[in-house]
Amino acid sequence: MKYLVILADGFADHPIERLGGKTPMMAAKTPHIDQLCCISKSGMLKTVPDSLHPGSEVANMTIMGYDAATYYQGRGVLEAAALGIDFSEDDLVFRCNLVSEEDGILLNHSAGHISTEEAKELIDELNDKLGDDRVQFYSGVSYRHVLIVKGGQNGIQCTPPHDHPGEKVEDYLPTPASGHETAELLRDLMMKSKSVLDNHPVNTKRKEKGKAVANMIWPWSAGFKPSMPTLKELYGLQSGVVISAVDLIHGLGKLGGLQSVFVEGATGLFDTNYSGKAEAALKALEENEYVYLHIEAPDEAGHEGDVDLKIKTLEDIDQLVVKPVLEYLAKHKDDLSIAMLPDHPTPCEIRTHTRDFVPFMIYRPGVEPDLVQEYDEESAKKGGFRSLDQTEFMKVFLSGSK
Ligand SMILES: [Zn+2]
Repeated sequence: MKYLVILADGFADHPIERLGGKTPMMAAKTPHIDQLCCISKSGMLKTVPDSLHPGSEVANMTIMGYDAATYYQGRGVLEAAALGIDFSEDDLVFRCNLVSEEDGILLNHSAGHISTEEAKELIDELNDKLGDDRVQFYSGVSYRHVLIVKGGQNGIQCTPPHDHPGEKVEDYLPTPASGHETAELLRDLMMKSKSVLDNHPVNTKRKEKGKAVANMIWPWSAGFKPSMPTLKELYGLQSGVVISAVDLIHGLGKLGGLQSVFVEGATGLFDTNYSGKAEAALKALEENEYVYLHIEAPDEAGHEGDVDLKIKTLEDIDQLVVKPVLEYLAKHKDDLSIAMLPDHPTPCEIRTHTRDFVPFMIYRPGVEPDLVQEYDEESAKKGGFRSLDQTEFMKVFLSGSK
């Protein structure tokens, strides 16, 4: 048996008045998704453990079959894995933003979405001036980088910078719950990063062009390497791939022993190369047992609060992803299982993730479809799988029953 997960990030939503109380999933014209629903069995799934925030990395981890409350160790380690950084058990790994600071105020979390090339120069300079046997910076994409502190102590409270633009830096510096020495080191690095970066030629040029400068580091979401079993060890899956435009999802896949497939034109936005991603997924199924096709676009539309755009992303997924998948399924009806679901809702009205249960459907040869014929937040509640809790989903997907 082969397994295809179509993960439409942030797909689910709330009823919207302007749509006559329908959700975007209900309002979108999605004949192929409905067709898949008619041969599938659906239900509702809890993807976020009570102890964690409803982040995509947490929810996707659950859907891949990991108990996130046990294995989630922060964004830093996932991004480090995605960048192919080789780190060991005693490395404390942080996501490290390049941010803009002025007169003690955090202006923004992204240094004006600085380019990867400019950022790399700054990260190299930071390593030159502040790096040593213990402290090492690794450059990633745009403002998103990694800081590793060898032998660091965890138990530090760091704040995500995107939650506090326009506020005082000193109110959100790393504070020790237990790791006093490491918290002190981080504060020191943040302050020193200012003098290294402030007058760097990259920033001088950005200032001249009226762009936001990248004049401070902001480490957060610390963790140690999770002792995650691979999907092979956990579920006996022989081979698998992740297709995504998002680093965190690739990092998750790598820690789970999956290969990364990158598709040209995959942007993570509404203009992504849907057809190319579907094609890559079907090609990967020829060689692999498990394919995780992650599509970020609906989540971004939800964050924008753009209802029409969200409906468009759903209709594009229907036409450009689910349609070719159904054509492929027609030739592989007896040896392909398909699951479709979002990781969490990103309701347009609130423009952020919620921890509500998500609607899912599973097609599996030999599993009798239920009577649900439309795939949306309400219909799935009447589905044959009723409601599932976290890792139960993977068990059901791989075996057909709980
Ligand atoms: Zn998400």
